[in-house]
Amino acid sequence: MKITQITVFHVDLPLEHPYWLSGGRLKFEVLDATLVKIDTDTGITGWGEGTPWGHTYVPAHGPGIRAGIETMAKFVTGLDPRKVLDVERAMDLALPGHLYAKSPIDMACWDIAGQAAGMPIADLMGGGSRTPRPIAASVGAKDIAETRAVIDRYRQRGYVAHSVKIGGDVTRDIARIRDVEAMRKPGEIVLYDVNRGWTRQQALRVMSATQDLQIMFEQPCETLDDIAAIAGKHAAPVSVDEALVTLQDATRIARDGLAEVFGIKLNRVGGLTKAARMRDVALAHGIDMFVMATGGSVLADTEALHLAATIPDANCHAVWACQDMITTDIAGGRGPRNTDGHLHLPEAPGLGVHPDEDALGDPVAVYR
Ligand code: MG
Repeated sequence: MKITQITVFHVDLPLEHPYWLSGGRLKFEVLDATLVKIDTDTGITGWGEGTPWGHTYVPAHGPGIRAGIETMAKFVTGLDPRKVLDVERAMDLALPGHLYAKSPIDMACWDIAGQAAGMPIADLMGGGSRTPRPIAASVGAKDIAETRAVIDRYRQRGYVAHSVKIGGDVTRDIARIRDVEAMRKPGEIVLYDVNRGWTRQQALRVMSATQDLQIMFEQPCETLDDIAAIAGKHAAPVSVDEALVTLQDATRIARDGLAEVFGIKLNRVGGLTKAARMRDVALAHGIDMFVMATGGSVLADTEALHLAATIPDANCHAVWACQDMITTDIAGGRGPRNTDGHLHLPEAPGLGVHPDEDALGDPVAVYR
């Protein structure tokens, strides 16, 4: 089997509500999505998606994905898409780094490999759990009233997990955390996601002021060096998200005990092939996981769900459904959707959902 054509689409995905990170420092209103269709000489077609969370969140840029694909396309066409390691090495040789530009091609290759094998991607990766994965709501808010309103909105949709975005102001963060904990229901999963919004002293002040609450923080500071510097000075479990980009990051975090949880975002780390290695490092070191697309449509959510299904149930805390935050649906309601706050793994071979090509507009590039 050979890749014969790569077709690239650019779609803007508007957010239903303006979204704030780092205590209001970063605002998001629309996501720049790149959809990739890979055709093969056998007639099997695969789809991939790369949707960074804007261009201020992490070093990933929507137009950069399309530029990266332009550079890599001639190295990838002609390869067998089922041999995902061959495709990965060709992309890494053609364009070192730029992992976020590679994830849509990797995803489309896994989709083709699954269809060719007659298996969902998770099963092709070695076996997928059918336990529905809880969806973590993304509670991007600035104050107590707004936080309560957003959590209530997601509870009405059945959500039992919430990633509450904090950071930027110690006093306000402590007040918001105490308010959420006071309204937290039994069995609800709550993660306090700082999105790099604290300096070291701010992190230690909030962590010590809330140590009676048994709560977990994600990405409290900007870098792994910052997180390492405070690691011995607080008792709270930490998830590392934005600073987990490469396999070398994963091994450092595991070896040095910098975090108890990995937040794996597939676009950021370069797709399923690279993320699967992080999963194995995590499992070998007693590290649990959240798995998410970085952003995007139901396609990106489904890719994350396949990886989540390859993690033992007890070690996978939640996934994410960005689809519930955007106002356009490129797949006409198909694919895994929120069911009582959970996503169910699709049983169709490959990814299990493709977009309506008519909904994507004209392609912005075609490579043969
Ligand atoms: Mg996060």
